[in-house]
Amino acid sequence: MCPSTGARAGVLHTAHGDVETPVFMPVGTQAAVKGLLPRDLIQDLDAKIILGNTYHLFLRPGHESIRRLGGLHAFMQWPRAILTDSGGFQVFSLNGLRKVTEEGVLFRSHLNGDSHLFTPESTIDVQLALGSDIMMVLDECLEYPASHQAARISTDRTVRWARAAYAHYRRHENDNRNRDGIDGRRACFPIVQGSMYADLRRNCVEELLKLEADGYAVGGLSVGEPRALSLEMAEITTPLLPADRPRYVMGVGMPEELPEYVARGVDMMDCVLPSRNARNGYLFTSTGRILIKQAQFKDDARPVDERCDCYTCRGFSRAYLRHLFLAGEMAFSTLATLHNLRRYLDIMREMRQAILLGKFPEYLGAVRAIPRVSHGANEPPK
Ligand SMILES: [Zn+2]
Repeated sequence: MCPSTGARAGVLHTAHGDVETPVFMPVGTQAAVKGLLPRDLIQDLDAKIILGNTYHLFLRPGHESIRRLGGLHAFMQWPRAILTDSGGFQVFSLNGLRKVTEEGVLFRSHLNGDSHLFTPESTIDVQLALGSDIMMVLDECLEYPASHQAARISTDRTVRWARAAYAHYRRHENDNRNRDGIDGRRACFPIVQGSMYADLRRNCVEELLKLEADGYAVGGLSVGEPRALSLEMAEITTPLLPADRPRYVMGVGMPEELPEYVARGVDMMDCVLPSRNARNGYLFTSTGRILIKQAQFKDDARPVDERCDCYTCRGFSRAYLRHLFLAGEMAFSTLATLHNLRRYLDIMREMRQAILLGKFPEYLGAVRAIPRVSHGANEPPK
C-alpha cells in the first residue's frame, strides 16, 4: 500500500492461478481476445486473467453447450483465470430492445431478435455453467446523463438484484462445497452503481457491504460522462470499500488514466480500448499514441516503441506495420493488439513495482508530467 496515495499492490488467489494486482484484464468477449491466441496471451503477454462476456456467450454458443464441453477454460484453451461480467452492461447497451422489471431484464438478441430474460439468479447460473473464476452480479447500467430520481430508482433495484444474486450464489457454493473441487476459490462481486451522484454511490456501497462480498466492482462509469467525473466517482467510492477485498472499476480506460485509478485504490480494470484501437491502427507507446497509417511512417524502420520488447517491437518496423494495415492483412491486427495489450500490462507491472518500492508518488508525478492530447468525453465501450 502506498502511504501517500490510495495505490495498493496485492495478489488475487483463484483456482486458475494467482493474479498480481493492480491488474488490467484483456477482454475476450466471445471466448477469444480478438486477434490473439491463448499462446500469445501466455507466452508474449503473460496475462494472468482475461474477461469473458456473459451476454455474448449466453446467446452464442450458449452456456449449456460450453458446460458440456468442459467449461469456458477448456472450451477456449485458456488455463488461467477468467472473470465474466453479468451481461447487464451489454443488455443495457441494446437501446430499445429491452424492458426492465423487478424480476430482471427482458431483451431481444442482437443476433436473431429472440426474446430472453436475464434475472439476478439466471445470470449467476450462466456464469456457473461457464465456470468463471470471478462472477459479477446483474446490475442496471444507466446511460449518462440520468436524473437523480431515475438514478435512485435504478440504484435501489441494482441493490435488490445484488442481494438476490448473492443469495443464489451462496446457496450454490454451500451445495457444492465438496463436489466440484474448486471450493472457496470462486468469487462473486456486486457492482456499485449510482450514476454520477455521490449520495447514491455512498448509499449503494453501504447496502452492498452487508453482503460481505468477495470483492466489489464500480460500474456505470465510461458511459459518456467527462473523464474527470468518472475519476471523481471512483474516488468517492473506493475508500468506502473494504481494504482487504479487491476493487474492480469496469470499462476503463486510456493508458494515462490507469495510474489515476490505481492512485485511487483500484486493483482491477478492463477495457476494449487497447484491442479496438489496435485494430483501427492506433498504437499506444511510452511517448503517446500513433496512427500507423500516416504517411510519416512509410519508410520508418523503427519499432512501434523503442522501449517495448514485445514480439511486435522486437522485429517489425513501423513501415511494415503500416503496410500490413493499408493492405488489410490479418497479421496487422495480431501484431498491433499484441503490442497495445503489452503496453497496458507493462504499465500495470511498472505501477506494481513502484508501489512495492514505495515510489508510486514519483511514478504518478512523472506520468502526469507527460503532455497529452486532450480527450473529450469518454467513448462508451461496446
Ligand atoms: Zn511493443
